[in-house]
Amino acid sequence: MIAQVVPVLLAFGANLGDRGETISHAQEELAQTPGITGFQASPLRETIALTTEGPDPDAPRYLNGVALAQTTLSPHELLDVLQRIERRHGRVRDTQWGDRTLDIDLILYGGKVIADERLTVPHPRAHERDFVLSPWLDLDPNAVLMGHGRVTELLQRIGDTTLPLDDSGAYHGDGSFSGGEGNRDQATAPTGAAAPTGSASPAAPTGAAAPTANVRASQ
Ligand code: AMP
Repeated sequence: MIAQVVPVLLAFGANLGDRGETISHAQEELAQTPGITGFQASPLRETIALTTEGPDPDAPRYLNGVALAQTTLSPHELLDVLQRIERRHGRVRDTQWGDRTLDIDLILYGGKVIADERLTVPHPRAHERDFVLSPWLDLDPNAVLMGHGRVTELLQRIGDTTLPLDDSGAYHGDGSFSGGEGNRDQATAPTGAAAPTGSASPAAPTGAAAPTANVRASQ
């Protein structure tokens, strides 16, 4: 049987440790994982930490980014891979288990809707997260989030508080940037990310990247 190739959208976040390095290594591992092809990472953006109480300007800031890829893995196999990589990179050991330094979310898995004890896809909060929508637009200016519409319009509605890295792709490490306001044309992919192989967002697949059979729009 020929395995079905499904386009996916993944979101990355880190707010402790060497955030860019952590995300970059995690992305490299994903790009090299059997069953994952065409891995294409967005530039990273910096954002104020979002807590259960709302945005917290005093908390360490996040670096966030997304990646498009294609996979023959099932959604739960892919989640296993993401969680394995999170575990490998995602915690700093000191006296005890420390803060999580890496979060990877599965935002879209083709056009599939999943709601079980391990997975909710499309990710239920993606449409209200500028740190997902903004880097996604960097990769695909025509992106559409199933059930919610054009990403450019969603982002306009919620506002974009994310900051790009500077023109060289370098992060200054102190929360400052030399790049000023974002310029998507100058955006630079993070080092270590696999080379782009053509961009097709999961909810708007082309050719081989057809959504799975179980397709319906999320509400
Ligand atoms: P968090 O660390 O806040 O991202 O939450 C991780 C938990 O969310 C894990 O137990 C996952 O099984 C669950 N989860 C549900 N839906 C998703 C998704 N779309 N992507 C990643 N984790 C998910």
